[in-house]
Amino acid sequence: MARTLSLLGATGSIGASTLDLIRRNPSDWQVDTLTANCSAKELAMLAREFGAKTAVVGDEACLSELRDALAGSGIEAAGGAQALCDAAARPVDMTVAAIVGCAGLAPTMSAVQRGGTIALANKEALVSAGDVMTSAVARHGATLLPTDSEHNAIFQCLAGSNIEDVARITLTASGGPLRTWSKEQIEAATPAQAVAHPNWSMGAKISVDSATMMNKGLEYIEAHHLFPVGLDRLKIVVHPQSVIHSMVEYRDRSTLAQLGPSDMRVPIASCLAWPARMETPLEPLDLAKIGELTFFAPDEDRFPATRIAREAIEAGGAAPATLNAANEVAVEAFLAGHIGFTRITALVEDTLQRYNAPAPSALEEVLAIDGEARQYAREALACYA
Ligand code: NDP
Repeated sequence: MARTLSLLGATGSIGASTLDLIRRNPSDWQVDTLTANCSAKELAMLAREFGAKTAVVGDEACLSELRDALAGSGIEAAGGAQALCDAAARPVDMTVAAIVGCAGLAPTMSAVQRGGTIALANKEALVSAGDVMTSAVARHGATLLPTDSEHNAIFQCLAGSNIEDVARITLTASGGPLRTWSKEQIEAATPAQAVAHPNWSMGAKISVDSATMMNKGLEYIEAHHLFPVGLDRLKIVVHPQSVIHSMVEYRDRSTLAQLGPSDMRVPIASCLAWPARMETPLEPLDLAKIGELTFFAPDEDRFPATRIAREAIEAGGAAPATLNAANEVAVEAFLAGHIGFTRITALVEDTLQRYNAPAPSALEEVLAIDGEARQYAREALACYA
């Protein structure tokens, strides 16, 4: 029988990879809801193609365009922040959370609160909400399936094992497009250079995060919440080929690694089919052709983001949500050409130093911290520009 699915962030990179898999297995899935922010025409086209019941734009100003594009289809159109949460609360077998940024937090929490099964790509939601989200998952009996390739790899390597037997979890990092650049070259990196990832094709925000290594910092915090082995057992290693997606070492010194092509359809398929497996259209991994797998320690002098993220999760309280909010403001400013590349992590660090708040205990408090931290970051930004 076909399983029902809602896809939050259908018009993005993860959205496209998810829909590609569904397109290849049409009898397995019935698409219930598709969402976007303002790509109304594209969303309407997808909703028609997949026979969705509802299509929602986060930006209410784009609702009339969505309505026009859906005219005569019988597909319900809605818009605005509350409409996204209402859509995410609809009862479906699987919710794919693939909105970018903290904007995805409230809809993801709606899916959690109805006890759903959620394939979580939207790492910023978990970084910002942390314990608020994981305790809601436990309270409402929801299931989080990690979709980020590293966390999905760890999830697969942990299958059937006792977390107390884990000696170390190692997140692999490609190092991004600027990995081999000197400090002076990094200082002058342009948005086009920063988004040109050597191994992965992704949305603009995560591509910049990969270049600064903040992506790995966010993933470090994400891993801490998903796999609570303690921060001292969480490590990062740079692995430029992106073949090993992460590793789990057990206390007998046996290390399990998950390998695969650098294509998000692999971890997405793992979540969609979980606990079974499904076909993907990808070529088998050809290790002889790849030839060499290399590993390096992260260079936190040229790329301070992983240190900043580690300090933020060690500090706890409002720091992880502040880090995420400031990073979103900084990446947006960098992509718009308002600040230089190295100002991204500088702005995050400045904001963490200037803004503090008690640890959030509810969604509303996380959203308040996110809003206030953005305000602080924007004020600091005015001095940089
Ligand atoms: P994209 O920028 O490609 O897509 C983002 C999606 O979110 C689009 O559908 C966009 O709609 C929607 N969106 C953006 N802002 C809002 C908003 N304010 N309200 C509602 N919807 C919004 O991002 P990616 O697909 O690259 O990434 C999505 C998430 O998955 C991120 O959290 C990222 O870190 C994570 N991830 C991505 C990977 C990848 O390979 N791309 C790998 C691992 C994790 P619209 O088109 O209208 O703007």
